[in-house]
Amino acid sequence: MAILTFAPGPSKVHDKLPDYFQEAFQLGILSANHRSAVFMDLYKDTERLFKEKLGVPDDYKLLFTSSATENWEIITQSLVLKSSFHIYSGSFGKKWFGFAQHINPNTAALVLDKNTTLAVDELEIGADFDIIGITQNETANATQVSNETIAAVGKKYPDKMLAIDTTSSMAGINLDFSLADIWYASVQKCFGLPAGLGVLILSPKAIKRAEEKGENGRYNSLNFMLENAANFQTHYTPNVLGIFLLNRVLAEMPNISEVHEKTEARMKALESIVENSSALDFLVSNPATRSRTVLGVGGAENFIKRIKAEAEANGMQMGSGYGPLKPTSFRIANFPALNDLEFDKLIAFLKAY
Ligand SMILES: *Cc1c(COP(=O)(O)O)cnc(C)c1O
Repeated sequence: MAILTFAPGPSKVHDKLPDYFQEAFQLGILSANHRSAVFMDLYKDTERLFKEKLGVPDDYKLLFTSSATENWEIITQSLVLKSSFHIYSGSFGKKWFGFAQHINPNTAALVLDKNTTLAVDELEIGADFDIIGITQNETANATQVSNETIAAVGKKYPDKMLAIDTTSSMAGINLDFSLADIWYASVQKCFGLPAGLGVLILSPKAIKRAEEKGENGRYNSLNFMLENAANFQTHYTPNVLGIFLLNRVLAEMPNISEVHEKTEARMKALESIVENSSALDFLVSNPATRSRTVLGVGGAENFIKRIKAEAEANGMQMGSGYGPLKPTSFRIANFPALNDLEFDKLIAFLKAY
């Protein structure tokens, strides 16, 4: 049997995947042309389910890309008019900033400590910046930015557009999509699917912005993508299998409010173990900035090595620490695809420390 992974991406996939693979094969959808009605219906139905299950406003548009990384470039290329301003505390936010800066040297950033909530009243973002990029769930250091903070930033800067990286939280927690115009994720995290598909969600205002900017000519120029998406088609032969699997996972999942409650209850159970343990420490000590979908556990290098080895001996793989945090931490994905037995096994293992 495959080892049970708690890595926050690629992560453990849904148990029903073998059935969905079989179904995709039998339906013949894997050989369907992406300009055909079969594909267009799949796109349409997936967008409908996406909005219904995740609470995305009706007038937003779902676009398919190849990854969250690709969305970083699309946003700078096709939506930023002057420059973007990035708020982050960890490696993924830093990477997004780096990609944006490569395309546009005027890009700027505010770097937060992982235990510090964003002080919106002290925030100063000048007129040279028209898009604010926020990494809502920073997978690398297991932090999050709350819906309330995002709302406050939006309220302070009504003339700027917010772009929110929710790669490791979308479909795991409740997000208020009305608070921002640009949202994105990839499916190998909370959606419990194999990698190779990204999603980009745009408000009508963001779509208008793309048209206003008029950027064209790249294979992933947003205007080119939107022209195709208007007919439920894609700008290149897409990952049809990924889209089909996404459709089936969305169809099976409960409403996001129910998923959110379960995610929260599981995270509370994990937090209580860390609080009561003499060996385990929170990577993020401030509960207000602690992610709900990724738990970071810190400790001495030797201890981290040992607990990871002991987990492996029990058929489980802890997610490694990311980047500079690799030797002194491990991470646990609190994603919906984990079934109750698997979660109980994790709890029993951690309780021994
Ligand atoms: C995983 C991750 C990404 C990158 O996702 P890809 O699908 O590999 O491009 C970006 N941002 C965050 C917060 C992530 O967790």
